[in-house]
Amino acid sequence: MSTNGDRKRAIFSFEIFPPKRDMPIDTVYRALDELTDLEPDFISVTCGAGGSADGSNNRTIEVASAIQNKYHREGIAHLPCIHFTRADVMEMLDKLEENGVRKILALRGDRVAGLTPKEDFHHASDLVAFIRALSKDRFQIFAACYPEGHTEAPDLDTDIRNLRKKVDAGVDRLISQLFFDNEFFYGFLDKARGAGINVPIEAGIMPITNKKQIERMVTLCGATLPRKFQRVLAKYESQPEALRDAGIAFATEQIVDLLAHGVDGIHLYTMNNPYIARKISETIRTLL
Ligand SMILES: Cc1cc2nc3c(=O)[nH]c(=O)nc-3n(C[C@H](O)[C@H](O)[C@H](O)COP(=O)(O)OP(=O)(O)OC[C@H]3O[C@@H](n4cnc5c(N)ncnc54)[C@H](O)[C@@H]3O)c2cc1C
Repeated sequence: MSTNGDRKRAIFSFEIFPPKRDMPIDTVYRALDELTDLEPDFISVTCGAGGSADGSNNRTIEVASAIQNKYHREGIAHLPCIHFTRADVMEMLDKLEENGVRKILALRGDRVAGLTPKEDFHHASDLVAFIRALSKDRFQIFAACYPEGHTEAPDLDTDIRNLRKKVDAGVDRLISQLFFDNEFFYGFLDKARGAGINVPIEAGIMPITNKKQIERMVTLCGATLPRKFQRVLAKYESQPEALRDAGIAFATEQIVDLLAHGVDGIHLYTMNNPYIARKISETIRTLL
């Protein structure tokens, strides 16, 4: 008997990244051996925005295909379009479809130093519309959203208006940027629903694994670091295991609150670390 009554089950998914080109691909498979044991609803695979210019899209396709065919779980390929042409995208979609990968996270991506953006796609919404027109319903299309607003948007309301255009172009689900204060996510959800964005929205959670990594991410995406989080970083910055355990506890508490709030799903930025994903999974499994 279900203990959830009629409550809709929340999705629990992971993000991983493929190893850099000069690293052996096997490292990601070692992580996947353990991550797939945790039975996430899907695993998404990041892709460097350099796209076909540096071949990083091939590794994304390879790893997403392995998730689908070797591990028999749902794989999602990230596709940042800023340095892609329409022909590149069509080629990538063909390869993914050949391998049974039918889920795409459609992204704009950020400029890569030394590369001139291609002219085919200016916003992620252009990519979403292109994939939808080309493939009709053969692909499920995911896209990104930003609880504190995207760093280039003048304010959250403008960003949400742009998000609505992206969703209207054919998005099926949204996954949020990482955040450390759930109140930002709840405020964003209210505004997004008020703006007529009705697709499911998964909350992106990144546990701290080390101080440098968190500081780099925060600089890149502009997420606010709450005081209690800063205290944890300051106290344990030179004790890697203590910082890791505090990070697991902090992320778990965030997730428990999000699930109690009834969110559509939790997307864990695993940083390819099965230990952390396992600890969090074990605690929250019965809450989904
Ligand atoms: C879950 C998640 C996964 C990610 N994975 C990757 C990855 O694998 N590889 C990678 O390179 N990057 C990745 N990113 C980062 C992402 O590429 C950057 O945040 C990028 O700066 C924006 O991408 P987007 O798809 O959200 O862009 P968009 O939706 O195009 O938005 C970018 C900016 O343009 C504005 N905008 C959008 N549409 C319009 C419009 N029609 N008119 C005017 N302004 C508009 C928005 O308000 C926003 O400020 C990821 C981000 C998230 C949240």
